[in-house]
Parts: sequence; structure tokens; C-alpha cells
Amino acid sequence: MSTVKWKKHQILGSGSFGTVHVASPSNEPNSTNVVAVKSASFPHSDSLKMETNFLYELRGCPEIVQCFGDDISVENNNEVYNVILEFAPGGTLSDLINIPGKMSERLVAFYTRMILKGLSNIHQSFVHCDIKPGNILVFPMKDGTNHLKIADFGLAKDVGVEIDSYRGTLVYSSPESVEFGVLETSTDIWSLGCIVIEMITGEKIWKNISKQELINEIVHGEPIIPQNISDFAKDFLQRCLAKERRKRWTADELLYHPFIVDNFVQVD
Ligand code: ADP
Ligand code: MG
Ligand code: MG
Repeated sequence: MSTVKWKKHQILGSGSFGTVHVASPSNEPNSTNVVAVKSASFPHSDSLKMETNFLYELRGCPEIVQCFGDDISVENNNEVYNVILEFAPGGTLSDLINIPGKMSERLVAFYTRMILKGLSNIHQSFVHCDIKPGNILVFPMKDGTNHLKIADFGLAKDVGVEIDSYRGTLVYSSPESVEFGVLETSTDIWSLGCIVIEMITGEKIWKNISKQELINEIVHGEPIIPQNISDFAKDFLQRCLAKERRKRWTADELLYHPFIVDNFVQVD
């Protein structure tokens, strides 16, 4: 439980299960101390509580959004469950992808490395199951770079646990998750491959097709690896987007792929 009471301001995002607001301490109206509060009321509060448990277990990882605490408030006679998160001033990776102009491969590798570090931590025990640009938060740094953190553990699960119904975002979903509902760590790696294509080209991996065609493409089609990119980038994408999930590399292996290592310059 957090001791500070938070006053909610504008909405940062809302889904069918809850809402995320910017908030500041209610007793200090001019405070520059801001947080993001993700809220849900019954029955969705139960899944938000589970989401919070994942965040607590992953506390301390620099590439995962930090959770400061949780509390219950009463709004319009409804009990609302609130999770207090660090606020990402830079929005999400979707916002970065939507900036006109292409990202350099070096920048893509820099961002991909941070996502891989987050996934490496998550995959020690969990599968995220909803890796996509809108769930990756952006923290602008003083040196002009952006730090990325993985958020939204609403669909996460323990490794090895089977789930009845998968509700991840279709365009980032792997063949085995769409066809059989199989969700293992390799499933998140497929989604990462989709994100890397999107960062490099500015376009989604599968484009302009109906839901049925999309399902068909994911299950039976071959993802198109862009041709006008470096050989290391192509190879990296092939390791993420292998249709046979056992052939995909793990996050720990991908961290040592030349696409990541050769593009990484240590900044002191
Ligand atoms: P949902 O489960 O509804 O998708 P998310 O946790 O992904 O919820 O949050 C929805 C949106 O709210 C995100 O896509 C992002 O735009 C915004 N958001 C979430 N958490 C934060 C945060 N800590 N800081 C800033 N914006 C956030
Ligand atoms: Mg989300
Ligand atoms: Mg969610």
C-alpha cells in the first residue's frame, strides 16, 4: 500500500479493463512529483491485481516499469483498485515509430537491446504475452537518448502454465499462439521481431488485410524480411521470426547477436 494519496489528472490511456491517469500528490497541488496510476474497478480489478504481482516480482529491473505501490479508492460509490507506476514522460514506442523519417539501424539496435534486457528478466519466470510498441514506455534521458521499459503485464503468465484463451494483439502474435494458443517465451520473441521490423521500416509486419487474412498469413504465410537492410539485421530478424518456435533464439542469445553487439557503443 502506498501512503501518499494521488490526485488523478488527464488520461494517458484507457482500455476495456481500466484507465491510466497522470497523477500528483493530492496534498501538494504544485508538486512536480508525478506518477501514472492504472485503475480498474470490479471485476477487472482482479486481473489488475495479478498484473501488479508480476510488477512486484520484477521490481528492480531497469527495463521494466517500476511499481511504487497500490491502493483502493472510492469513486462514484465504486471501489477502484489503483496501481501507482513511474510516469513515462516520453509516451510509448508507438510514438517514436510514428515520428516521420526512418530510424537508423544503430538506433533500432539500441532500443532492441533494452527490450531484450527486459525480456531476459521476464523470461526467467514469465511470458509477457502482449509485447507491442504501445506497451513499451519511453523515458527521455538527459543525454538526449531514450530509455525503454516494458509495461502492461495484463496478459502475462508463468512459464509453462497453459491458458484457456489468448487475447494478445493479433498483428504481433506468433503462428503457434494464433493456431494453438501456445504461449511460451519464444512467443514474445516473435513479437519482438515484429517490433524490430516496424522500427526499421515504419510499417507493421502484416499490412492492410482483414482479420481472417491476417490469421491466415500468420499461420501459413512467411513474414517478409525487408531486403534493403544490413545482413546482420536480416539475420537477427530470421532468428526472431522463425515459424518453428523452437528455432527462435532466446532473449539471452539475441543479446549477443552481432546486430546488437556491433551496433552497441558504450556511453560512459
Ligand atoms: P492496457 O492494459 O489498457 O493496454 P497499459 O498498461 O498498456 O494498459 O496502458 C495503456 C496506455 O497508457 C499505454 O499504452 C500508454 O500510452 C499509457 N501508459 C501506461 N502506463 C504508463 C506510464 N507508466 N507512464 C506513461 N504512460 C503510460
Ligand atoms: Mg497496453
Ligand atoms: Mg493490458
